[in-house]
Amino acid sequence: MFKKILIANRGEIALRVMAACREMGIATVGVYSEVDKSALHTRTADEAVFIGASEPAESYLNVERIIDAAKQTGAEAIHPGYGFLAENADFARACQDNGIVFIGPPAKVIRDFGNKTVARKMMVDGGVPVVPGMTESNLDAKRVAAHAEEIGYPVLVKAAAGGGGKGMRIVNAPSELAAALESAASEAKAAFGDGSVYLEKYITNPRHVEIQVLADTHGNIIHLFERECSIQRRHQKIIEETPSTAVNDELRQKMGEAAVQAAATAGYVNAGTVEFILDEDGCFYFLEANTRLQVEHPITEMITGIDLVRRQIEIAAGLPLDLKQEDVTARGHAIECRIYAEDPANDFFPSPGKIVCLKEPTGPGIRNDCGVYQGFTVPVEYDPILSKLVVHAENREAAIERMKKALADYVVIGIKTPTQFLADIIDSQPFREGNTLTSFIDTYFPSWEPTLPDKDLAALAFIADGMAGKRVADAVAEGPAEIPLPWQTLGHWRL
Ligand code: ADP
Repeated sequence: MFKKILIANRGEIALRVMAACREMGIATVGVYSEVDKSALHTRTADEAVFIGASEPAESYLNVERIIDAAKQTGAEAIHPGYGFLAENADFARACQDNGIVFIGPPAKVIRDFGNKTVARKMMVDGGVPVVPGMTESNLDAKRVAAHAEEIGYPVLVKAAAGGGGKGMRIVNAPSELAAALESAASEAKAAFGDGSVYLEKYITNPRHVEIQVLADTHGNIIHLFERECSIQRRHQKIIEETPSTAVNDELRQKMGEAAVQAAATAGYVNAGTVEFILDEDGCFYFLEANTRLQVEHPITEMITGIDLVRRQIEIAAGLPLDLKQEDVTARGHAIECRIYAEDPANDFFPSPGKIVCLKEPTGPGIRNDCGVYQGFTVPVEYDPILSKLVVHAENREAAIERMKKALADYVVIGIKTPTQFLADIIDSQPFREGNTLTSFIDTYFPSWEPTLPDKDLAALAFIADGMAGKRVADAVAEGPAEIPLPWQTLGHWRL
């Protein structure tokens, strides 16, 4: 087993990986940029190496500096987390060339899955169902129009190099096609440096259901069931749950087998996720594969009891999987809410800044994978995820109640977070009914305004003004106007 691992990432995911390392007796090396000198991951790592200026290109995306940091500290392996270099085939290759183990799949697999049209072709050849559409990009406009007619409108223009929902356009009629191709291509070019686009059938009223797989270097591949990730804003997930309300045992088995088939076809090694789109008739189609640890991996860990990061490290060290498919069982229901520094009442606009007060929820079945602390300034430079709030309970109903409680207990002051918005979704009738299509937010929450007075401020007043003995619920009901501002109550809250 490795003695030392470098984590080429920041925030909650860097801490998540460090936690697994610590349990395994592996020393950790953190890397940090200028703005992250006092970030939680920098402070938590056994040792930390400064890798450059705050702009990602100068630090967390800088292959050379990260490899140097590993060499300098004697780290034998690098865990890339998610985002940044996690799905960069050149980085995986650079690790290998420098005698460092990349904790993830081989560079070739990352490259193949990194391009949606290459991946689609590979999956078609491997007999995995894919969304009807093209397996090549950049054909001339006439041929693209002919394809669109063939698969039938509505169609979806997608960027071959796509990610994060960028470079995607729904096209409802032939007259809109040319403009959509052009704008998707230019967005893709700006975001990925590659303007290749292609067409897929637009599946109406779909769900996003993905399957977690684990594959070792000895040819063993298993799946760890599904995650339903249909609650999205701007094609980006914000609430995930498992099991999916749309997947029964038979479908689960079919999708699991398709995911294992996808992994086998690609020569997959390590933890990966095969994303499918599931239509109203229960037909599912390959969407893409993510060749890394997913943001939402904890919900799978909660229901299976399997530590995915530990498994990633063991697989990278060459150990065989000591789990067979039939050994993997699920218990209960898990839900994750992503807590970003953003304002749900203002189109999810990022809200970086100083966290004046932070009170994390705790209690039975509650896990908060958090990358920040009270007093930390959330930088503008990076993805503003603060934490992932995960609950596990005996069944979905109990998990919903547990999440409501956890969200209500979550206090973040100084920056905007969507805890109230998430609680409103979780508590809504359509969510409770499991009516979770990817259109959920547009349909049920097209514009959202906070209905409660500022819960966080009320809670802080309660914490600060303990002598008043006010219950949080009463303080919330009274509203912020009734509550002394924290700096009026206690001088030292003015950090
Ligand atoms: P990205 O790599 O940018 O995340 P994906 O291919 O994973 O792109 O798609 C992101 C989301 O966009 C999906 O979860 C789904 O909500 C929607 N989507 C993608 N392809 C289709 C499709 N063919 N039909 C309907 N919705 C789609």
